[in-house]
Amino acid sequence: MSQSGKSILVFLEIKNLQISRISWEAMAAAHTLAEGLGLPVDVALVASSGNPIFQHIHGKRPRKVYAIDHTLLHNYTADGFTAAYAQLIQYAKPAYVVFPHTYQVRDFAPALAARFGQVLIGDVTAIEGGPEPVFVRQLLQGKLNGAYRHPGTGICFLSVQAGAFRADEAVHGETVLEAFPAKIDADRIRVRPGAPFRPSAQTVDLASAQILVSVGRGIKEEANIALVQELATALGAELAASRPICDAGWLPMERQVGSSGQTVAPKVYVAIGISGAIQHLVGMKASQCIVAINKDENAPIFEVADYGIAGDLFEVVPALTAAVRKAKG
Ligand SMILES: Cc1cc2nc3c(=O)[nH]c(=O)nc-3n(C[C@H](O)[C@H](O)[C@H](O)COP(=O)(O)OP(=O)(O)OC[C@H]3O[C@@H](n4cnc5c(N)ncnc54)[C@H](O)[C@@H]3O)c2cc1C
Repeated sequence: MSQSGKSILVFLEIKNLQISRISWEAMAAAHTLAEGLGLPVDVALVASSGNPIFQHIHGKRPRKVYAIDHTLLHNYTADGFTAAYAQLIQYAKPAYVVFPHTYQVRDFAPALAARFGQVLIGDVTAIEGGPEPVFVRQLLQGKLNGAYRHPGTGICFLSVQAGAFRADEAVHGETVLEAFPAKIDADRIRVRPGAPFRPSAQTVDLASAQILVSVGRGIKEEANIALVQELATALGAELAASRPICDAGWLPMERQVGSSGQTVAPKVYVAIGISGAIQHLVGMKASQCIVAINKDENAPIFEVADYGIAGDLFEVVPALTAAVRKAKG
């Protein structure tokens, strides 16, 4: 079997017949690593090489795309994916293996890493690149950050938290497709494929909203949320919140953004009366454009904001809503 030399190998995941956004975020993380290490980035996914999904990879500039195919991979099982991915890793011999931190990856990636005598550095939120990269992950539900370094022998396996890297920062360019027919023995699959895992039913999917208007404790009372809802409606946005708002029952938990809520990366995130505590920031800092409205000009939210309005939200928000309505006619 041939080998491609040292590289960074990213395993992409398909969701609803598309490569998931978090997979592109994992690829952006791989490019951060690649810059410091001077290594090429390759990607792999389970699909036949004739699958039209590969058109979406051209332009994202992995050096190579491996199309892993086998009938026993058409329905996900941890045994099947572990066997196939292990074969590809033995073939491609990467120095780093990067996954999106999804439910599926949590299911099989630790076992895959263990096959190579390694641990999975899971749920990475930041990478300090360079010849000896440092991986940051949260501890104690976001109260502390831990910095991890790979000891240097063997392959480094890591998975990347949703929203921690920006999908649009995956580098663009040309690529080469290589079919990788996995060899899987049906007797080695110990479980029967079941229905794909779904997180608990949610009536609102904040992660796929293009614009979010998010409200924090600065709103003071439940009745005042209507003010922010009006802006959200004018913008065609979903309403989100910081934790105290959901803890108080003013908005349902499914609208909470942050380390113990949802991770989001919309095109626009408008933070209203939110201070910018780290547990909130980790859930929204990958947004493409952050607008913050806060009466305290030293509030930490302004450190991540692209646009900031230091002012009283009870004056600013109605004026903004009126301006949006006027602009939209
Ligand atoms: C384990 C753990 C997990 C957590 N998980 C999450 C999480 O998932 N999500 C989350 O959000 N938090 C989380 N938190 C809580 C987090 O630490 C903060 O307490 C919380 O984010 C603060 O919410 P806030 O910004 O709405 O409120 P505050 O910190 O009270 O900030 C309110 C802001 O409103 C501004 N303000 C007040 N009046 C006005 C006005 N009239 N006009 C304009 N601005 C005004 C103030 O200047 C202030 O900056 C977690 C904490 C822990 C310990």
